[in-house]
Amino acid sequence: FRNHVDKPPKGYAPLCRDFEDFYTRRMYRRIQDCFNRPIASAPNTWIDVIERVSHDNVTLVRTKNTRRCINLGSYNYLGFAAQDEYCTPRVIECLEKFGASACASRVECGTSILHEELERVIAKFVGKPAAMVYGMGYATNSTTLPALIGKGGLIISDMLNHSSIVAGARSSGAKVAVFQHNSPSHLEQVLRKSIAEGQPRTHRPWKKIVVVVEGIYSMEGEICRLREIVALTKRYKAYLYLDEAHSIGVIGKTGRGLCELQGIDTEDVSVMMGTFTKSFGSCGGYIAGSEDLVKYLRYVSPGHLYATAMSPPAVQQVLSALKVLMGEDGTDRGMKKLAAVRENSNFFREELQKMGCEVLGDEDSPIMPIMLYIPATIPAFSRECLARNVAVVSVGFPATPVFLGRARICISAAHTREDLNQALKVIGEVCDICQLKYYPPPQLSW
Ligand code: PMP
Repeated sequence: FRNHVDKPPKGYAPLCRDFEDFYTRRMYRRIQDCFNRPIASAPNTWIDVIERVSHDNVTLVRTKNTRRCINLGSYNYLGFAAQDEYCTPRVIECLEKFGASACASRVECGTSILHEELERVIAKFVGKPAAMVYGMGYATNSTTLPALIGKGGLIISDMLNHSSIVAGARSSGAKVAVFQHNSPSHLEQVLRKSIAEGQPRTHRPWKKIVVVVEGIYSMEGEICRLREIVALTKRYKAYLYLDEAHSIGVIGKTGRGLCELQGIDTEDVSVMMGTFTKSFGSCGGYIAGSEDLVKYLRYVSPGHLYATAMSPPAVQQVLSALKVLMGEDGTDRGMKKLAAVRENSNFFREELQKMGCEVLGDEDSPIMPIMLYIPATIPAFSRECLARNVAVVSVGFPATPVFLGRARICISAAHTREDLNQALKVIGEVCDICQLKYYPPPQLSW
């Protein structure tokens, strides 16, 4: 092990650690001598630089010969991200009119008519009275949560919530409790226990309680059990914050997300958050809620006040994608895309299961992790797939527990059946190499 990157001044700690040393030590601490060889390559499992993207594939450079790969790694669920016949020309036109960046925050001179229009449209789309948009999905969570709750408050978060939620919860100053992944019964236990243990105040133990969940969990592909969670938040008088990064524009009859899928009144969800980086093929995030909530956040949320506004071409991309989804482009492409992502996902999941792979996630979810378990398999799996022109992202510690590494496949409406069949053939070969087929598939629960 090397100890540090730069020599620190005498008596001081180094500013940063050598990455591989840092990572390997963290892994070793967890693995505790189960292996006696370093497994340091896990973070660099897919390190090729992309030269060009087309709507259903990526072309990679840095590999010896530049070639086309079937892309099973990005969140382009509806295929809007590149060369879309409706979105792309409008984005180009917008770039000419507004430039690439807003170059100012929303409260300075970064608000364009496009931002205001998107806020109206997205609020209508998700079924809330008002919405505001941010330049980045991560910052939407990490700056909104602390603006809503602080000392004296209680955040109860699903144990597998995204890092941006964890960052927001930690920096809020509120007490943070976690409940077992997607388990309403454990959430109820945590609610009861926390309320009983809360600081004795005149009428309630906590100033407020916010329960935070995701629509589709990005590492599990699982759909949130929102109906039961809504019943609990109502019973225990808690607010509900729902991150729909992976579910908006994908599930629900018209792509309006989890509430539409499970027939839940959006009134029952206090804060609806989402990102534009997945189904809409753009970047940025939104918060939708009551008029009062959004008005308040505009005054206090640092991500709105101090960060540069969403780039206008990115706004235009979302507006155009939403028009297609809502059928306002005069075609039924939106509904066709929604049907295609569902069909492709269910087809791919079933085929993987038939092959004997252990696949996580629910029906209709475009995310399907294949369990790899052993850390050494993580880089091997994506390397072997890439060698066969299929780009798959595999993830391990610290994004997952050490022995629950997985290959995370993301399916898009833009994948053709030939692409999917070819990818299945390759994954089958790689699963044989990595000895990853189980008959019958084991049942996992954690
Ligand atoms: N929330 C969830 C659930 C996510 O998975 C992600 C990122 N994939 C984010 C928030 C952050 O969004 P962005 O990548 O748009 O910044």
